[in-house]
Amino acid sequence: MMRPSILDPLFGRAEVLPGIGPKTAKLLDRLLARPGEQARPIDLLFHAPINVVDRRIRPTLAEAPLDTLILVKTRIVEHRRPQGRHSKGPYKVLVEDDTGDAELVFFLANPEWIERSLPIGETRWISGRIELYDGRRQIVHPDRVLDEAGLAKLPLVEAIHGLTEGLQERFVQKAIEGALERLPRLPEWQNPSVLAANKLQSFEEALNRLHHPREPADIAPTSLARQRLALDEFLAQQLALRLMRAKLRRAPGRCHTSEGKLAATMEAALPFALTGAQRRALDEIRADLSSDRRMLRLVQGDVGSGKTIVAALATAHVVESGRQVALMAPTEILARQHFGNLSPLFAAAGVRTVLLTGRAKTSERNALHAAIADGEARVVIGTHALISSDLAFQDLGLAVVDEQHRFGVAQRLALGSKGEMADVLVMTATPIPRSLALTYFGDMDCSILDEKPPGRTPVKTRALPQSRIGEVVEGLKRALAQGARAYWVCPLVEENEDLDLAAAGERFEELQRIFGPRVGLLHGKMKGAEKDAAIEAFQRGETRILVATTVVEVGVDVPEATIMVIEHAERFGLAQLHQLRGRVGRGAAESSCLLLYKGPLGEIAGARLTTLRQTEDGFRIAEEDLRLRGEGEILGVRQSGLPGFRLADILAHARLLAIARDDAELILRKDPDLTSERGQALRVLLYLFERNEAVKLLRAG
Ligand code: ADP
Ligand code: MG
Repeated sequence: MMRPSILDPLFGRAEVLPGIGPKTAKLLDRLLARPGEQARPIDLLFHAPINVVDRRIRPTLAEAPLDTLILVKTRIVEHRRPQGRHSKGPYKVLVEDDTGDAELVFFLANPEWIERSLPIGETRWISGRIELYDGRRQIVHPDRVLDEAGLAKLPLVEAIHGLTEGLQERFVQKAIEGALERLPRLPEWQNPSVLAANKLQSFEEALNRLHHPREPADIAPTSLARQRLALDEFLAQQLALRLMRAKLRRAPGRCHTSEGKLAATMEAALPFALTGAQRRALDEIRADLSSDRRMLRLVQGDVGSGKTIVAALATAHVVESGRQVALMAPTEILARQHFGNLSPLFAAAGVRTVLLTGRAKTSERNALHAAIADGEARVVIGTHALISSDLAFQDLGLAVVDEQHRFGVAQRLALGSKGEMADVLVMTATPIPRSLALTYFGDMDCSILDEKPPGRTPVKTRALPQSRIGEVVEGLKRALAQGARAYWVCPLVEENEDLDLAAAGERFEELQRIFGPRVGLLHGKMKGAEKDAAIEAFQRGETRILVATTVVEVGVDVPEATIMVIEHAERFGLAQLHQLRGRVGRGAAESSCLLLYKGPLGEIAGARLTTLRQTEDGFRIAEEDLRLRGEGEILGVRQSGLPGFRLADILAHARLLAIARDDAELILRKDPDLTSERGQALRVLLYLFERNEAVKLLRAG
């Protein structure tokens, strides 16, 4: 099934838009496209303005506020050309009104243009920002110089968009205009009574109003235009989610009957007793596994709450019933670590566990695939390699997805569909605020590990300016002398991966000069075997400081490590900092986390560091992170490149989300395959918001 051709004009290259050349198109790619892809008209339409120029504000020169974009009516008094033929000085033009005067300043100006546009004695409207220079009012490079006719053509309120270096606002505007012109007549997919009750306009009107605001309020999340678009986006997301789940649940589950002997043997061999929360979660999971309903359960537990063993004991239950289990982790490191921890436990009980990652060589991979297909391998641990289309299981009973926020719904489904009616257990260390859980995991059952294993001491958290790094190094010297182990995290910012890697490399060398060979390095671009070696050396204590980019964020477990230093902590989100801090404080020894920040801290960054110092409660942190950053960051969608919301805002539009949820439920109850007239329109909506995978689940229509 393919995207309806009515949408084709919105999904081509932005370069086809009038006035957009290859150079601008490249910049638009950088601004709007997913990595490696090209910007399209639809991306421009969804590129909401971040501000407006309000040209209705027309003060006199004397009243005009400084450093604010204003529009003033002036007379041109005098031209002051730069002195000397080769002067690099600016060309200045004195203008005045009845209240005072100001200089327009042009560097590297074209004198002919200035003489033409600003004739002495005439009246001109000047738009720009006034600043004071030597006590005089100046407008450097006015934004516009207009006569009355020009003014009449200018929009009084103009949208301003987010840009990228080298890209000018007027090109973005031109591209958006072109995209708006290509917008086809689309069928209405919303329920007319919902639109009426909320005073919402059509999709087309909403987009036009968003990009041609009449009031600054038109671009605010509360505007009717934004609300309409948010409702559309929510409806597409809610429909997609429900379609996927319906597919999962359409098939009944199978009961996995076991006496629990294998699990009991494994549990008895553990060096610790399960916490109450772990026990509760396991009981819930076992009940699901033994029922003939298909399990779709989320285990939410903060970092260090002990999710792995819960998954392992659930695995034992299914293995004992004679079926296979797959455990998928988001990174190679994590998959290896799970394999390292779990395979001995299973081996002791006579169960063969294999590790399958993208790193396996062809021959090894073939052998593993064979062992998985004929059922010799009972437990399969791995990365995305587990969902490769040529891998078949003999009989997959349970699919476990670890750190699930790193995976999309589609990937989760893909693993589940490797088995006939396989049960699905997903685990996340990112506590999800209630408001989000409803949207993303609405009808998944949920077990919460709200109790940490005993004997953990709280992590002492301090925030220090980067300038005090010397003290941190001195502190590390003392701690290392007493046998401590430390992580040292350098941030990786997507836009500039190479620079950031260089920063981590430099820090590594610097620490090596101080601490010698006891320093290790770990980053995402290292070869697989090098990564393993770096982690193992740290685990064995051969290296005592592990300098790392955020690859350590997810799941690395070295209980002996008690110090976490995070450089440029201001660049991380709260949830990420919380995850990083969760790498320490795993043993009985007192742990500490040092957040080095580069000041001055913005308000949000400051609030983040304060929250982190105040609490280790992942749920509180998640709520706070949602408040500070929006939902995309929390679920890791941005990092993982999965589509989050583009126009909707979970907090600002919570009411609309509820409407969309109810509507989606009603729609699918009445028209599960979207074949009615409205159903067809909704298919267009799904494609518009690129929920294509959901449309594939529909029967033809
Ligand atoms: P996470 O929930 O972050 O995945 P892990 O499963 O990695 O946490 O567990 C963190 C650490 O706690 C591991 O070293 C694990 O062996 C240990 N652990 C798990 N459950 C318990 C328990 N009930 N008592 C003591 N230690 C436990
Ligand atoms: Mg884990």
